[in-house]
Amino acid sequence: MNLFTHVLTGVFIQILCFIFFSFPFNFILTIIIAFVSHFIVDAFSKITYHTPAPHWDDKFWVSWNIGIRVVGYSAIIPFYPYYLGMIFANLPDIWDWAIVRRIQKRRNVNGKINYYRNNFFHRIIYKIREKTLFWLPNWIHEKKAIIVEILIDFALIIGIIFLKI
Ligand SMILES: [Zn+2]
Repeated sequence: MNLFTHVLTGVFIQILCFIFFSFPFNFILTIIIAFVSHFIVDAFSKITYHTPAPHWDDKFWVSWNIGIRVVGYSAIIPFYPYYLGMIFANLPDIWDWAIVRRIQKRRNVNGKINYYRNNFFHRIIYKIREKTLFWLPNWIHEKKAIIVEILIDFALIIGIIFLKI
């Protein structure tokens, strides 16, 4: 799913862990649960609008992807005290998309590389999704499915507000 959803999940998990556990378990559990959350959240991405390839010619795709990315990066600033949850909730994306893909791109002189084969964590996520969530509809090409992700984000925001007051 999008950066914003993973940021909110990481923040929510860190707040919960710091409420219910004391040092050092609050830190350890934040790291473990936030990291595992990425696999669960991404497994559900098939019920949200997530086209495998970019659609730069589609205004809707461009607005949604740029908009949600700006929201995601902006959210990091007010939530910086929850950096631990945010980092670990996003680690599989940082590793697969920002590090591995960049290295592969640099090595990819003949343009024949299969990025899917080389991403590490998302291959596992794909398997989890195929094995456990095969019964869910596939809405990755459905524009209206952005509502699903917006609702998930909204629920997480409500949860964060609820825990903080
Ligand atoms: Zn991911």
